[in-house]
Amino acid sequence: MKKINFSAGPAILPASVLEEAADAVRDLNNSGLSILEISHRSKAFSQVLLETESLVRELMGVGEEYAVLFLSGGASTQFFYTAMNLLNPEETAGFLDTGAWSAKAIKETKLFGKVNVLASSKESNYDHIPRSYTIPEGLKYLHVTSNNTIFGTQIHEWPETSTPLVADMSSDIFSRRIPLEKFGIIYAGAQKNLGPAGVTLVIVKKDLLGTVERALPSMLDYRVHIKGASTYNTPPVYPIYVMMLTLRWIKEQGGLEAMEKHNEKKAKLLYDEIDRNPKFKGTVSDKESRSLMNVTFVCTDEADTERFQKEATEAGCDGVKGHRSVGGFRASIYNSMPYEGVETLVNVMKDF
Ligand code: PMP
Repeated sequence: MKKINFSAGPAILPASVLEEAADAVRDLNNSGLSILEISHRSKAFSQVLLETESLVRELMGVGEEYAVLFLSGGASTQFFYTAMNLLNPEETAGFLDTGAWSAKAIKETKLFGKVNVLASSKESNYDHIPRSYTIPEGLKYLHVTSNNTIFGTQIHEWPETSTPLVADMSSDIFSRRIPLEKFGIIYAGAQKNLGPAGVTLVIVKKDLLGTVERALPSMLDYRVHIKGASTYNTPPVYPIYVMMLTLRWIKEQGGLEAMEKHNEKKAKLLYDEIDRNPKFKGTVSDKESRSLMNVTFVCTDEADTERFQKEATEAGCDGVKGHRSVGGFRASIYNSMPYEGVETLVNVMKDF
């Protein structure tokens, strides 16, 4: 039986993408070669790169002032990469500390410059997105984690500032429309909304680069990858190919506006049940901070936890277990989670 995959990442992908990805492993477009064995400088792969970039640009409305890069190292590498490329030692980056991933980005950034944490929800185990804080003048950039995968919170109101935002969008990229002009850098590991693990999408405003004094190793210099059009070294060919298929799928569904509606509808179904059913409660204290991607909840009576887990698993719902730092349950309902998948989980909750 095909399971309904509620895993936080690597995560569910559209069934049609998996089929096409499997076909390409056997034979890429009747070329007689597998996608796994073609050169990253072949014509076939150059076309894949071009189409993937052009889909990113089209779906998000990314203009030529930004470069679109496909790098490796995961979002965790971008925690320090952004700082290395943007921040001189005496300069300050602002941060919203909204979860474990923000905290890691803060730690890494301190290796290269000054950090000013403008607001943090750490004291209450990151159960909300802080909303009252002031943004001082003179920050080089303001780093935000748009969606906190572990704690189930999401930024729904972007900071009001002309300071460029650097955003870790690993767990909600392409899930909704965003005001792109506010962002200096957007980065995301692919393994939630975009494809398999192994590629990191980076969208970087070109005029922010070239202001740091430190010498940068080639692989850690955005400008080198811009110049090499993401083929300075061997890029993750297969993950990029699957990203292309996923972006095609998003486009077929109607783009980001359609994704946004689909995600709102799914999240509402699940949150309504959490709020209605006395057997469950949400872990996010501020409803306005609730994530549309990772829905976190617990059993009101902790003694019920194991039984609910068992019943969800029996109904085919895989990966609903919460992160160890929050406990309870987390249902990750990324773009490619169908409405019917969430309905199945909600029915288990109703029967419970
Ligand atoms: N940021 C967020 C919001 C995440 O959910 C994760 C986990 N995938 C990371 C960063 C770390 O990503 P990676 O494993 O690709 O380094």
